[in-house]
Amino acid sequence: MINKKLFLNKNFTSDGKPRAYVELRKIDTLWFNTGTLCNLKCNDCYIESSPTNKNLQYINLLEVKKYIIEIKENNLGTKLVGLTGGEPFMNPNIIYILKYLLENRFKVLVLSNGMRPIEIKFKELLTLPNLNNLTIRISLDHFKKKNHEKIRGSNTWKQVIRNLIWLSNNGLNLNIASKIKPDESEKIIREGFYKLFKKIKLNIDPYNKNELIIFPIMDYEKTSIEITQDCWRVLDKSPESVMCSNSRMIIKRKDEINTKVLPCTLITKDKEFELGNDLVSSKKKVFLNHPFCSQFCILGNSSCS
Ligand code: SF4
Ligand code: SF4
Repeated sequence: MINKKLFLNKNFTSDGKPRAYVELRKIDTLWFNTGTLCNLKCNDCYIESSPTNKNLQYINLLEVKKYIIEIKENNLGTKLVGLTGGEPFMNPNIIYILKYLLENRFKVLVLSNGMRPIEIKFKELLTLPNLNNLTIRISLDHFKKKNHEKIRGSNTWKQVIRNLIWLSNNGLNLNIASKIKPDESEKIIREGFYKLFKKIKLNIDPYNKNELIIFPIMDYEKTSIEITQDCWRVLDKSPESVMCSNSRMIIKRKDEINTKVLPCTLITKDKEFELGNDLVSSKKKVFLNHPFCSQFCILGNSSCS
């Protein structure tokens, strides 16, 4: 269980030390959460997506355009736009959003579970402009069906493998997101994927960390250590290596009219992490005042893009 005394004070940790913070360097990557609805209900989903979770609404094209125009007008220099969910291909606006971003010459990364929602859009995907700028990241939680389905549910393996093969055979840029298991080393996981990719003839290098990304498991309820300003030195890590120094994410909460800017893709529920409505004024210090900060970014060494 999470220790309720931790993370209460933004500026200081529970033992009174100055809490670590991150300043925005540049928005290299702008993320949009396309909505929390998902066709699956994975038992470890950090955002608790499901077929009924509407906590974050579907984002629409006008809302995306607003931020792209802001990037251009203010020369923010953003090159990569990421789309995450929920399952982005459930958002009815997804093809229009992708078309607009690709027409505007952004690199686009879209995260998908590789199931029926993307399959329905296969034909439309192939009609998109500048398709070489699009990368689709498919989640495969493990290289074995049994372990993948333990997290994603039964009958999820065959379909994702079939769709991966289709995407690959049709020339789309792909990479794979997986997760570390407490009882397996990264080496074993990469070797396991090597055998799988070879078997299904997938042109992805499992030893390349950009092609097979292995994320730590995040658990809001798990006790996490708090990160002090001293931790940067002790862990030999710099604030510039953390996602909130080079990214922002746009969300639209249930029952709200305006979109909000958040520091990263991970912390969507806690309103104290909101940074306003526009990108220029989101240039604020982000205090690492959340269990995910240590679990994912500081001790897990991960970044979404
Ligand atoms: S597919 Fe992704 S978004 Fe959907 S429930 Fe699973 S982890 Fe969450
Ligand atoms: S989870 Fe990571 S990226 Fe998000 S605010 Fe914490 S340190 Fe920054």
